[in-house]
Amino acid sequence: MIIFVINLLNQNTMIIYGTKGKHIHSEETDLIQCSHCQEQRKHTISIYGRYAHIFWIPFFPIGKKGVSECNHCKMTLAPKDMNESLKFAFQNVEKNAKRPITHWLLLIIIGVLFIAPMITSIFIAVFKSITS
Ligand SMILES: [Zn+2]
Repeated sequence: MIIFVINLLNQNTMIIYGTKGKHIHSEETDLIQCSHCQEQRKHTISIYGRYAHIFWIPFFPIGKKGVSECNHCKMTLAPKDMNESLKFAFQNVEKNAKRPITHWLLLIIIGVLFIAPMITSIFIAVFKSITS
């Protein structure tokens, strides 16, 4: 029983921090020749935002990753495997993929916790100087 609890604690300490990826944007391209099936087809480009997390709360963003999928043969390609026209479309989609503010959540919380007391103390000091 005790060993089981220790194992459980060890497992929990292993996953309190790490990185995670979340889908942030998908877009369909114009007709581009697929390097796998050789058909002129639309591709779906999906962008994922990676972030560091502590206790599953997003801390700060790390980078973006993305893949393209041929709408005909469903071949999925990483940017390094894309042909020139697909790579160009990928870069445009990546530019449009705005990272959600929630990927900064823990940093925002820390900022508010440090800045809010400073602002209130400034207000109190100003209020005291006006009233005295
Ligand atoms: Zn294809």
